Amino acid sequence: MAAPGLRLGAERLFEMPAVLERLSRYNSTSQAFAEVLRLPKQQLRKLLYPLQEVERFLAPDGRQEFHLRIFDPSPEDIARADNIFTATERNRIDYVSSAVRIDHAPDLPRPEVCFIGRSNVGKSSLIKALFSLAPEVEVRVSKKPGHTKKMNFFKVGKHFTVVDMPGYGFRAPEDFVDMVETYLKERRNLKRTFLLVDSVVGIQKTDNTAIEMCEEFALPYVIVLTKIDKSSKGHLLKQVLQIQKFVNMKTQGCFPQLFPVSAVTFSGIHLLRCFIASVTGNLD
Ligand code: GDP
Repeated sequence: MAAPGLRLGAERLFEMPAVLERLSRYNSTSQAFAEVLRLPKQQLRKLLYPLQEVERFLAPDGRQEFHLRIFDPSPEDIARADNIFTATERNRIDYVSSAVRIDHAPDLPRPEVCFIGRSNVGKSSLIKALFSLAPEVEVRVSKKPGHTKKMNFFKVGKHFTVVDMPGYGFRAPEDFVDMVETYLKERRNLKRTFLLVDSVVGIQKTDNTAIEMCEEFALPYVIVLTKIDKSSKGHLLKQVLQIQKFVNMKTQGCFPQLFPVSAVTFSGIHLLRCFIASVTGNLD
């Protein structure tokens, strides 16, 4: 079930000299990523494949039943995705507009992905981290109580649109039902919904409401575990196992593999960029 066009995978970290040689033939934007690949192997694994980092703490016979390597792109594919997220003259990455209602949403023809999550889950930090290769992009944050929360649209070259949805939890469900639900139900070019869950506290009641909504509308969605730098490896593994069990038993539309990330250490950010590039058809 690996994404089409992707060569497996993480094990190729151990062929680093060959990978670096191939990457040096890419254009200069990949040079930044080539620097990343020069990190010591263990640090590199933690940065690129955080789930496999916790996998080492599972008994070998317990590993098969967990979905830890369904999406297992090679470092070259991760570098290709980083290029897509790098702003250049020819690949403009910009904030487009904001909307409080779906009928005010910009009419953008490209495939779209959206990010939803409870207030404070780390959504703005994650989106900033994803756009760190386009530093001029301003990720707008409207958090002050009483301020209208908006959907913010960003275009990534000619490739896809990223939508930052208002956080739920505070003043939910009104905001959520009015805006998020209608968007999820009606947005035709929505390819994937990224549902953020705080890795420290796991799935909360309001997260369940969002999960139920994705299930009800039969949307393909993915659970992203945020703030993994705050958890010990043992705690993170426990959360991963619990949430994966939940995903396996209770969901239909959720991608079986979780995506742990940290906006502080950048762990998992490159892999998430690669997954976004893949689900929007940009790595085929
Ligand atoms: P949002 O309300 O979902 O947009 O959440 P923010 O991105 O504003 O983050 C909420 C709080 O969590 C802030 O204090 C962030 O600094 C913190 N935070 C966000 N992401 C991370 C992370 O990956 N690691 C750590 N340690 N803190 C984070």
